[in-house]
Amino acid sequence: MHAFMQEQVLPAEPTYAAQRAAAGPDDHTVPPVVEDLKHAARERELWNLFLPAESGLTQLEYAPIAELSGWSLDLAPEATNCAAPDTGNMELLHLLGTDEQRKQWLEPLLAGEIRSAFAMTEPAVASSDATNIATRIERDGDEYVVTGRKWWTSGVLDPRCALLVLMGKTDPEAPAHRQQSMLLIPRDTPGVRVVRDLPVFGHHDQHGHGVVEFHDVRVPVTNLLGEEGGGFAAAQARLGPGRIHHCMRALGAAERALELMVTRAQERVAFGGPLADQGVVQHQVAESRLELDQARLLCHQACQVIDAAGNREARTLVAMAKVAVPRAAMSVIDRAIQVHGGAGVTDVTPLAAMYGWHRAMRLFDGPDEVHLRAIARAELSRHRQSGTGDAPKAGPGQ
Ligand SMILES: Cc1cc2nc3c(=O)[nH]c(=O)nc-3n(C[C@H](O)[C@H](O)[C@H](O)COP(=O)(O)OP(=O)(O)OC[C@H]3O[C@@H](n4cnc5c(N)ncnc54)[C@H](O)[C@@H]3O)c2cc1C
Repeated sequence: MHAFMQEQVLPAEPTYAAQRAAAGPDDHTVPPVVEDLKHAARERELWNLFLPAESGLTQLEYAPIAELSGWSLDLAPEATNCAAPDTGNMELLHLLGTDEQRKQWLEPLLAGEIRSAFAMTEPAVASSDATNIATRIERDGDEYVVTGRKWWTSGVLDPRCALLVLMGKTDPEAPAHRQQSMLLIPRDTPGVRVVRDLPVFGHHDQHGHGVVEFHDVRVPVTNLLGEEGGGFAAAQARLGPGRIHHCMRALGAAERALELMVTRAQERVAFGGPLADQGVVQHQVAESRLELDQARLLCHQACQVIDAAGNREARTLVAMAKVAVPRAAMSVIDRAIQVHGGAGVTDVTPLAAMYGWHRAMRLFDGPDEVHLRAIARAELSRHRQSGTGDAPKAGPGQ
């Protein structure tokens, strides 16, 4: 993976930028250089490494590979067929899909022939609380009828997107966590309308983040993913590995920011010497190394527990990593921007784009506060179970 990044991915970045610039911000077709890199990654057998059933890798073994891919977020995850949201959707299909569903959707996704999107968040309700999801899925004979409005449906604008995995309500009268179901909706189903692309801090991503309307959308009942009422549990299953994979990649992005910071500090001369000679800059470098290595250890600890005991046992550690890693990445990227001066906030370095993405990461796959709430609840309940709290206790997941 290291050789692939050095020899092929990082050198391809200017071509990617030029191809996107030529196509314009409203264009969502994949730049040809990405398809070239996909071929190259397959030849190197760097393909579908995120899925233990396909790769034979544990999460801990996958972590440094995904981290390397984070050095080039627009190129490397997709080149290796390890990009969100497809990875989460493939995990879901792998876990819950029928033979027919896997053949129709999982196989072309694993082959990198199509892409997919995950439609859960809605503009009208606080979607960090998944029980709020209001899109209706109603049964009508042998069909389900879907009506609702989603947003932040990442990937839906890419012309290769063929499938939407949608979360909606099948039974509003059921207990709160049994009301939702997941449905497979072919992108070209009549009634699916992409209203517009949402920019992230003014930047339009290649795959796009869609506002999507579902008006009287009909699919056969065989398109149900898993069981009716199982949508909430399926979303939890999908988000566990997805979150830790985002953390792995964020560490790679932050490592790149630190490398850029160090190089710049050594080369840039102000007030009679390189910036690296200034104590304050040295502090920034040291703090960055400290925060990054701490965050990585937490991420790897979560991986270790996923491998040893499963997603459920690891959920508090995953929540901790999901808060700590973007925080660390944000502060490292912020310092790197500062050391670059004006160059840091424009497009002559990848820092400004990295900053925007990792700020957004504090929201997607659950905002910080929701994870902090889960961490606090686990801590409080552990404390209650062990009595006074005076005795030494093992950490989460141990
Ligand atoms: C770049 C990007 C890509 C995304 N991709 C997808 C995608 O592919 N599919 C998809 O379905 N969604 C996607 N999302 C949506 C994302 O997952 C949601 O934005 C997120 O879950 C928060 O939901 P919300 O926006 O409705 O915020 P709300 O639920 O309205 O929450 C707003 C704020 O309220 C606060 N808050 C919430 N709960 C608590 C609490 N318990 N305690 C204290 N404060 C609280 C938090 O500060 C939170 O940020 C994406 C978002 C972004 C930015």
